[in-house]
Amino acid sequence: MQQTKVLIVDDMEVNRLVLAGMLEELPSGIDMASSGAAALALLADNQYAVILMDIHMPAMTGFECVSAIRKTPNIQNIPVIFVTAAGHIDKFVDQGYHLGAVDYLVKPVDADMLLSKVRVFVSLFEQRAKLEASLAESRAIQHKNDQLLNFMAEGILGLDSQNIITFANIAACTLLTSNREHVVGRSIKDFINPSASQQNWEDSDFNHVFKDGQCHHMDDALFWRNKKETFPVEYTQASILEGAEIVGGVVAFQDISERKKDQQQLLNLARYDQVTQLPNRSMYWDFLSKSIATAERTNSSIAILLLDLDNFKQVNDSLGHDAGDELLIQMAKKLTHCVREADIVARVGGDEFTTLLLNPRDSQVAATIAQKMLADIAQTFHIFSHDVSVRASIGIAIYPNDGTTATQLTKAADTAMCHAKSSGRNTFKYFSRAMHERIEYDLKMTQELHKALGEQQMTMNFQPQMQVKDHQLVGFEALIRWHHPSMGHVSPQEFIPLAETNGLITEIGDWCLIQALQQAKHWNDKLSGGHEVNIAVNVSSLQFKQNNFAEHIIDIVERSGLSLSLLELEITETAIMEDPQKTTEDLHKLRTAGIRISMDDFGTGYSSLAQLKQLPIDVLKIDKSFIDEINQNDSSNAIVKSIIDLAHSLKISVVAEGVETLEQFAFLQKSHCDVVQGYYFSKPLDMANASAYLRSALSSS
Ligand code: C2E
Ligand code: MG
Ligand code: MG
Repeated sequence: MQQTKVLIVDDMEVNRLVLAGMLEELPSGIDMASSGAAALALLADNQYAVILMDIHMPAMTGFECVSAIRKTPNIQNIPVIFVTAAGHIDKFVDQGYHLGAVDYLVKPVDADMLLSKVRVFVSLFEQRAKLEASLAESRAIQHKNDQLLNFMAEGILGLDSQNIITFANIAACTLLTSNREHVVGRSIKDFINPSASQQNWEDSDFNHVFKDGQCHHMDDALFWRNKKETFPVEYTQASILEGAEIVGGVVAFQDISERKKDQQQLLNLARYDQVTQLPNRSMYWDFLSKSIATAERTNSSIAILLLDLDNFKQVNDSLGHDAGDELLIQMAKKLTHCVREADIVARVGGDEFTTLLLNPRDSQVAATIAQKMLADIAQTFHIFSHDVSVRASIGIAIYPNDGTTATQLTKAADTAMCHAKSSGRNTFKYFSRAMHERIEYDLKMTQELHKALGEQQMTMNFQPQMQVKDHQLVGFEALIRWHHPSMGHVSPQEFIPLAETNGLITEIGDWCLIQALQQAKHWNDKLSGGHEVNIAVNVSSLQFKQNNFAEHIIDIVERSGLSLSLLELEITETAIMEDPQKTTEDLHKLRTAGIRISMDDFGTGYSSLAQLKQLPIDVLKIDKSFIDEINQNDSSNAIVKSIIDLAHSLKISVVAEGVETLEQFAFLQKSHCDVVQGYYFSKPLDMANASAYLRSALSSS
């Protein structure tokens, strides 16, 4: 701290020195001025505890000088003691006090009196200086605190005991008013939205916390902004206590809109499909479970329509995933348009949608909606300037008839959907008990089928094929047989389609081929005596889906050691229909290697004779159903005859299968059919019997 100083103003040097001398014992410094002007000059730069002022001075009297001091800011309050000669005092007292003089001293000045008076002012001055310093310090602290609070992103409010806001930082003003209006002086009630259950402020949690002098944290509350809109906040409130008395409170709060948005987005991701914005599987599941509970209570029903697109993968593969997504989006819109608002459409898998019809009037409603959906889907989709057509299959299950839990119902709808798919697609099917039993049965059979090959339950049978013109045996068709230890004989018509759905067909197919080749090799090497014995082996359309199918087959035949020209592969129209390009390529490779290709079950599928021209085919097998019709009516005979003629014109030889009677054989002979196969000659035979058949055929030829 600076040294405290006293200013002595007197035009007479002797007077100044006398006074200064008297004050010598004080620790204060002493400045002296010989005129009013000089005093004012010193006052401009210095602070004084007190001024001892002579009244009588030339140019500027003591009064005039004090009057000037009183008009000058910063120094106007300095205490002044007038020093004057005795006798003048009465005259000046009033004037001096009027000017704010604090005291008078009469010359000759009494040293003790002077000292004690000046000492009082010096001490006053020093105390004041100390006070001002500590005030400045606390102001600085306050300023710093204010700045700190204002820098905080959290809103801070100070409240008095009446819930009136006495302090608000910038963040609080910004959040509560949106344009930083002042909130100080307003009641906190304007900004806090007591929860809906506590409309009354007095009963609100917020009020209780303050009243009870507690501290409380809320994760999720609403505050008002401008009394117009609410925004989500997290806040902490605490009461301010003085002793036991509550004198106010503090609220610190944060706007959690962003956090809530993020949470909502996460929730959305978990509950909605991001491509179509439809509910996803998990939300569908929740909804179905809840709907079942409601339906149970209210005795109402629910229909589930499970829809699967038949050729979505092709769209994805040929036009790309963006186009696939776009198709799904348009699809979602179409489906949503087919149902009422209360019903639910969800995307539950890549190309699977489910619709829940809540309390439909009757079970017919589901069929009507399924039909509408199929019709809408059948209309061409326009995807990025491509016209795309898709088809769908729908399975319908009804609560409570087809199941009473979400799992049962969904499974039932899925079963019905699979049924719709397998019965030609672009159609819908209701779930039935029989379907359920079928599924259970298929599941069991699949398990059994897995064991069958390993446990040697499979064998090969061989059915003779005869040349028509000379009744000579030309070879055999290899046909698989499954003898199950407890179920007995299981027909290939039953388990081959199953093996095609569960993928076992590739393993079974290879096994059949290897067995058949082995047997044919044995016959040709050991029994035929130079005669060629051909072998025909059935190939499932599913086997063509293998990579390098042709190479794989050729490899197996070459390993067997049988001449490739003795093998005939029987394929069906489905194989060609499903992937014409790849199948045709494979067939060409097989033929180039010397293997003959036979079209099995001709006439039951979709291909016409005209289409056959484009296919690499050596043999055509007329299906048994046509042979059965021979001599039943004129037109069936004509059909068989024209198939044979047309095949011949394409240089394709013809095998008639399922020949059971002499009449049938006679007609086929007359029609120049090349080869026949059927019970009329022989049923399929096991290995030993086939060998015996071959031996006797050779011996009689
Ligand atoms: P498919 O290839 O058309 O075989 C002809 C079926 O007709 C055989 O039935 C045969 O026993 C039967 N059949 C032959 N002549 C007559 C007849 O005069 N009257 C009657 N009623 N039936 C006759 P199977 O052996 O039950 O085979 C049924 C189907 O299972 C086959 O039809 C074929 O599609 C499939 N299959 C059989 N074995 C195999 C195999 O090893 N691999 C593959 N992929 N499929 C096979
Ligand atoms: Mg066949
Ligand atoms: Mg056949």
